[in-house]
Amino acid sequence: MKVLDLKCAHQHVFEGWFGSEADFQGQLARGLVECPMCGDVSISKQLSAPRLNLGATPPLKTLPSSASTSSAGGASTSTELVPAQASPAGMSSQDRQVLQDIQGDWLKMVRQVMANTEDVGSHFAEVARQMHYGETDERNIRGQTSPEEAVALLEEGISVMPLPMPAALKETLQ
Ligand SMILES: [Zn+2]
Repeated sequence: MKVLDLKCAHQHVFEGWFGSEADFQGQLARGLVECPMCGDVSISKQLSAPRLNLGATPPLKTLPSSASTSSAGGASTSTELVPAQASPAGMSSQDRQVLQDIQGDWLKMVRQVMANTEDVGSHFAEVARQMHYGETDERNIRGQTSPEEAVALLEEGISVMPLPMPAALKETLQ
């Protein structure tokens, strides 16, 4: 049994199992080797993994000094590393926990902002300007404004920050 690292024309990398090298060449010639991801039959063989191990640098020092660097075995093969098929379904429970924690923190943060800010709604830009120019008391506000208005505020030196809100929270708080 021979395990080969193969690659299709769309750069999908996969393993092919063959009885022998000749077996592979034969199947390839008859168009029987196809990419499991896209069905492409333009398959090329990758260098086997051990040869791609770049841990040891070629012993360039031992080369005769007359050897030009460009002719060093033509060893400029690009290395391609493939992630171990990271499909969403293969997500570990630990990964899910981390995601949940992040979502939890984010919800907490949003709730905190909500609890400590005054909702000025569509008057956001107006109130932010009044505060900036000392026409009204400085306080923490939140509200809605158009992206154009937000840019205008930033250009006037008024710092605003987008607050990405989960749809669920939006509904319960209105
Ligand atoms: Zn493919």
